[in-house]
Amino acid sequence: MVEGSCHCGKIQIELDVAPEEVTDCNCSICRRYGTLWAYYAPKQVRITEAVPTQTYQWDDRQLFFHRCAECGCVTHWSPVDPSRNRMGVNARLLAPDVLAEAQVHRFDGASYGGFTR
Ligand SMILES: [Zn+2]
Repeated sequence: MVEGSCHCGKIQIELDVAPEEVTDCNCSICRRYGTLWAYYAPKQVRITEAVPTQTYQWDDRQLFFHRCAECGCVTHWSPVDPSRNRMGVNARLLAPDVLAEAQVHRFDGASYGGFTR
């Protein structure tokens, strides 16, 4: 099990397993957020919110990007359609030694028309 949190600690993330790979995407939103995404089935992830996250939607509105209302860290994205068995966790919130073990996959989301592809 692996844990992470936003800077202020109001959002806590618990993962069943450490990510083997994280995605560094250059699409218009990911490059601005500076996130490294680790993808999971939602049942592998537990997120505890001491304050509700704020969300942002973009483009085709298939995803919610969540951030901490207190410190502003981007914590994860979740699908708008709950039947979609995939979500992304910002691996930047994990311990540096956990992140160091993961392969960084550079994804050219800018050329492939966006984040959700
Ligand atoms: Zn926070």
